[in-house]
Amino acid sequence: MATQDDKLKDIIGHAKEFGFIFPSSEIYDGLSATYDYGQLGVELKNNIKNYWWKSMVHLHENIVGIDAAIFMHPETWKASGHVDAFNDPLIDNKDSKKRYRADVLIEEHIEKIRTKINKDVAKGLKRFGKDFNEQEFRATNPNVLRREAEIKSIEDRMREGLEKENLDAIKQLIEDLGIACPISGSKNWTDVKQFNLMFSTELGSVSGESAKIYLRPETAQGIFVNFLNVQKSGRMKIPFGIAQIGKAFRNEIVARQFIFRMREFEQMEMQFFVRPGEEMRWYEHWKAFRINWHKVLGGDESNYRFHDHIKLAHYANAASDIEFNFPMGFKELEGIHSRTDFDLKQHEKHSGKKLRYFDPEINKSYVPYVIETSIGLDRMFLSVLTMAYKEETLEDGTKRTVLALPPALAPYKVAVMPLTKKDGLPDKAREIISRLKVDFNCQYDEKDSIGKRYRRQDVIGTPFSVTVDHQTLEDNTVTIRDRDTMAQERVAIADLHQIIDNKVSLRNLLKQL
Ligand code: ATP
Repeated sequence: MATQDDKLKDIIGHAKEFGFIFPSSEIYDGLSATYDYGQLGVELKNNIKNYWWKSMVHLHENIVGIDAAIFMHPETWKASGHVDAFNDPLIDNKDSKKRYRADVLIEEHIEKIRTKINKDVAKGLKRFGKDFNEQEFRATNPNVLRREAEIKSIEDRMREGLEKENLDAIKQLIEDLGIACPISGSKNWTDVKQFNLMFSTELGSVSGESAKIYLRPETAQGIFVNFLNVQKSGRMKIPFGIAQIGKAFRNEIVARQFIFRMREFEQMEMQFFVRPGEEMRWYEHWKAFRINWHKVLGGDESNYRFHDHIKLAHYANAASDIEFNFPMGFKELEGIHSRTDFDLKQHEKHSGKKLRYFDPEINKSYVPYVIETSIGLDRMFLSVLTMAYKEETLEDGTKRTVLALPPALAPYKVAVMPLTKKDGLPDKAREIISRLKVDFNCQYDEKDSIGKRYRRQDVIGTPFSVTVDHQTLEDNTVTIRDRDTMAQERVAIADLHQIIDNKVSLRNLLKQL
């Protein structure tokens, strides 16, 4: 059976082979944690963006969008706390010269203990067979209990070290646990240091601290600093939201797992401004709306779960992640955060400008509270590929690889194929495309057997293939083949538009929200 790791490798290979994602600047051996979207990747990515934008902005009369600059006044990042506190603890191995996130090293050690627990459980199952009660075994087996206690003690020490920023304690923990560098195998570690994740550069020709600016590590601040501009120019009334899709940059120490964690990535964020005291109601509202947004894509619902944060960031009074079952296991796909009035208040303080809203209903002026929904577009892309990628064994025993993408997100909606290159069939196929292409992204394909051409569309997720044959010339009918059922049907050319539209329209998703 294919392991989870194999699945990630398969997806990476597939994404490259068919033009979804390439390693960046590959002819120079690539740049770590940086990827380029290819000719099909950009289509899928645009369709995801469109789904998000339409459902967040166009479906809500009280949400509007903006597109703020990546560069912002450097004071922005002092106000937001990123200059002082957007850090990861890093540690170097002196022998391999490799750099690690200290907390990740510890978490990986904990994972190893968990694996041992799972092995104990598997042994128990083997011994007791169908009488085995896993819950009871986990609650009573001395080995399992000892290991669980060990995990708890490590987690407590790590949390305390990180919370108190006691980096010596974190190093001590790594030493006490005997963690070795996976590359050199040595335990020869440097001290733990804080590493700021923001990329910086210089503005204009002057160098030095005064000209230092940052590439934004999140898109949210572009929305906060424009809060009043949008509210006033758009005559927005609270509650209202501002949405944005754009690039963000983080100098991640451990960047791997394909497009899951990159140094340059894209976020789709929405900040929703509410009356103080009403934030919890809206927090619950957006949690429900966002999980539904994922579920209507039609994947297995058990692949999604909420992970409520116990330890909250200093500015938040509630936070939850939507986790998705990636090939590497359940991991954060999206965050929903109740950010209080922290950001707007900080910007008031640092800019000296008032960022208040006069609420005519209660005749009061206040700094609004904010609920934010923040999703990584690239992680969303990976979750869609994970859901869609399938290797199927057909009834006749042959295998096919298919990307069962939600039709509304598929790069091409329909491929049109003349049965042969002769007898005017290509012209007829092109005539059909010229009618459909205004509404659907179409592909023309005349090479190889029809069977091969169908398979080529399956691997890139095209919902429909239309074949033009000699009968078409006589009665203006074609066969249309469905990617998922592989069933073929003879239909009139005049009906094609409607048939395709019924299946691929974004309306199908939007009306379920
Ligand atoms: P993580 O804990 O995985 O580092 P985070 O909690 O720092 O993520 P947020 O700051 O909440 O992430 O950012 C919101 C969203 O942006 C995340 O849910 C994720 O989808 C996306 N994101 C964050 N960092 C990256 C990255 N390095 N590469 C790709 N997407 C990212």
